[in-house]
Amino acid sequence: MYTVRLLLSCLLFKEVISLSGSFWHITDLHWDPTYELNNDPELVCQSSDKRPAANAGKFGDYACDSPWLLINSSVYAMKDILPDPDFIVWTGDDTPHADLGEKVVLPIISNLTHIINQVFPNTKVYSALGNHDYHPKNQLPAGPNHIYSQTAEMWQEWLDPASQETFKKGGYYTEKLLNRTGFRMLVLNTNLYYDQNKQTQNMVDPAGQFTWADQVLTEAANNKEKVYIIGHVPPGFFEKKRSKPWFVPGFNKLYLDLIQRHHSVILGQFFGHHHTDSFRMFYNSDGSPISTMFLSPGVTPWKTSLPGVVDGANNPGIRVLEYDTQTLLVKDVVTYYLNLTRANAGGGRWEKEYRLTESFRVPDASPASMHQALNRIATDPCYLQKYYEYNSVNYDLTECNSDCRIDHVCAAREVDFDRYERCLVTEGAFAIYSGLLPVLSVAVSLVLANR
Ligand SMILES: [Zn+2]
Ligand SMILES: [Zn+2]
Repeated sequence: MYTVRLLLSCLLFKEVISLSGSFWHITDLHWDPTYELNNDPELVCQSSDKRPAANAGKFGDYACDSPWLLINSSVYAMKDILPDPDFIVWTGDDTPHADLGEKVVLPIISNLTHIINQVFPNTKVYSALGNHDYHPKNQLPAGPNHIYSQTAEMWQEWLDPASQETFKKGGYYTEKLLNRTGFRMLVLNTNLYYDQNKQTQNMVDPAGQFTWADQVLTEAANNKEKVYIIGHVPPGFFEKKRSKPWFVPGFNKLYLDLIQRHHSVILGQFFGHHHTDSFRMFYNSDGSPISTMFLSPGVTPWKTSLPGVVDGANNPGIRVLEYDTQTLLVKDVVTYYLNLTRANAGGGRWEKEYRLTESFRVPDASPASMHQALNRIATDPCYLQKYYEYNSVNYDLTECNSDCRIDHVCAAREVDFDRYERCLVTEGAFAIYSGLLPVLSVAVSLVLANR
């Protein structure tokens, strides 16, 4: 009897386990092959652009992109933490923030591809291009070119023949997720919508990607499929700089329309480019949360040189997404990181930073739960501070003040350009009101006390 019960409970346990899957999301590795320890801090790496790499060590420096040792350490950390993921999502930006010429682009993509392939030889990788994976940077074309075709060749083990074809034309592709009926991955080349991309700015639908994605998602709905979308440059605003979007306005609108039209089949969006840890909410016209885009932190610690961002570096981060293999619901997000300062001092290792459901007390990472998490961040200073420290992967531990709160909350809440601007006004008014509240309550109690 006991054996039967044990067997039954094992079977049930196995059933529960089998519904849960996990995958890695890595992004913005930005390998800088020029990184070399040097007595002159200005000469450690070309990506610092003469900013002194004052604390340069073998794992890197916050002024620089990743040395090879950091890349190597991040991929082996993945192997240690979760050696057998269902798949890997890799969302681009492989070359450094330095102009090393066109000749380095393909070799850099190739070396990163090689190490991922070597460490995870039997794992499917879904891979998107970043705005740095081209020369000149950001200028990814809306048609065939040798970078797309050479990269497609390089990734041939990861791409179906049909994917190779669309990738060579426009840097995008779609496949059944892990070849399973009912599940789909959509890999976008959103670098075509980047406002720094002069090749595509005046086009209506660069590389026909919107039309194609609309078709893919319509067919997905007809075939009752569930879809994940991955890409590099996200729509909406940068949370570390007020009113700083990435997309051309018209493309931002088209992307938002695409998600609103097809949200019922889209179970998650996974993007990079920010190097920070954040997320973007999508709502329908009645204000219900319909989709979330998870922005994963970068492996590179590189301090952004974007004017107006103060001390915008981060610790290297990598991320595991836990999901329901039957519904593709994102159940949890677990971020791991390397404290660069400690690692350089010899005492650092990759460790868990946080688990989303624990830190924000939500049941899962569904749009409804992420909406709830965002409300906590917007209204509770403890959650705001926690979110803010995770945002730079525990690099910037200063206080997130009221302007900072507005920037982060409005960027996460509103992808639409007009609604974002309105959010700044509303949240600004809220900040004044809540700032006045303690003053008003003291005044009222004084009046009452003096009656
Ligand atoms: Zn990047
Ligand atoms: Zn980027």
